[in-house]
Amino acid sequence: MDKETLALHFGYNKDEQSTMAVPIYQTTAYEFKDADHAANLFALKELGNIYTRLTNPTTDVFEKRFAALEDGEAALATSSGMAAIFYAFANVAKAGENVVCASQAYGGTLTQAAHTLKRFGIEARFFDVHNTKDLQSKIDNNTKAIFFESLTNPSIDVADIDEIVKVADKHNIITICDNTVATAILCNPLKHGVDIVVHSTSKYTTGQGLALGGIIVERKNLNEKLKNNPLYPHFNEPDESYHGLVYTEVGLPAFTLRVRLSLLRDLGAAPSPFNSWLFIQGLETLPLRIEKHSKNAKKVAEFLASHPKVKKVNYPGLKTDKNYTNAQKYFKDGLSSGLLSFEVEDFETAKRVANSTKIFSIVVNIGDSKSIITHPASTTHQQLSEDELKACGVPSNLIRLSVGLESADDLIEDLKQAIEG
Ligand code: PLP
Repeated sequence: MDKETLALHFGYNKDEQSTMAVPIYQTTAYEFKDADHAANLFALKELGNIYTRLTNPTTDVFEKRFAALEDGEAALATSSGMAAIFYAFANVAKAGENVVCASQAYGGTLTQAAHTLKRFGIEARFFDVHNTKDLQSKIDNNTKAIFFESLTNPSIDVADIDEIVKVADKHNIITICDNTVATAILCNPLKHGVDIVVHSTSKYTTGQGLALGGIIVERKNLNEKLKNNPLYPHFNEPDESYHGLVYTEVGLPAFTLRVRLSLLRDLGAAPSPFNSWLFIQGLETLPLRIEKHSKNAKKVAEFLASHPKVKKVNYPGLKTDKNYTNAQKYFKDGLSSGLLSFEVEDFETAKRVANSTKIFSIVVNIGDSKSIITHPASTTHQQLSEDELKACGVPSNLIRLSVGLESADDLIEDLKQAIEG
């Protein structure tokens, strides 16, 4: 089935009421038929709902649909993108081990990796997403994950997924790819051999800035890689916290099973059923929206590239962009999503442009149907020095746009008056 059809139908078998919309199961817990039924569910002899921290029927539809769109085997939703990323790391690495992350990534992810994981005893090492030699040099016998974004926020680079997977496979290490910006519609890292995809569903999935959420998707047959892999003994040895369960012997996708039965159970960042329902609504129109976001962004990028007061434009959909080849290779029809950035004269000019737009809102979010403008140096990246800003691909004269669904002509007119004002 094509993605447009999956996005509307997959994972929902109409209930007894035959409701067209997926119902919201707004409940904390579920009644068991009797004590034996309860015991069987707890022992995984039967599968079913126990408590919404573990599973929920509305969230289940969202997870199944998202997994289908990513061409994955199973998915697990969380209460935020940051929780999904943390659970993905925590599911493979423990104190004394390390993970290797691309340095071109969302600031919150970099901070989680460098500071929070460190407090849990997990070291994060960083590599340049365009340099697999650099990646290779950071790997040792204790490396448990390679993390990168398919389309990076905010530096707007496109990873060469095949090259990163080649390095990971040489060492049998799990790869985790954040596919938030590219979306499951434009890019499917799992089809390129990535093991785990994560998303912040707070962005294009909800599409209207309505709810915070995250999701972890596991590729098909990942069990084969985990089974007897000496890097991941906890998938192959009895889990004392779950009656000696061996995750790779249950016959279910082991990665998401372990996140659910161990991390979600113990740490609890489960999504609310209402938010899962909002994400289902978002998915229904995602194929249409992301195409329009991409087309609008391309028009805006072309306008900016032709403007004499704009020094540089970063958008992988432009032939002149250094990421163009990767975008053509990995993104459907080369469509490059709605995120772009551009450089103006200096820090003060960038601030003035951000202040002068009328349709774009100054907001630290992306993927909303309404256009957003951000000046990272005066907001999200305020604490960094000029040199640090350059090192993470965010110079002080850089403006980031999340191009929305308004008329591209109106957006261009708005930017024109702001730049020339
Ligand atoms: N990944 C990317 C690429 C993001 O842009 C963000 C947030 O901006 C996150 C993850 C974190 O997601 P959330 O805000 O849902 O926790």
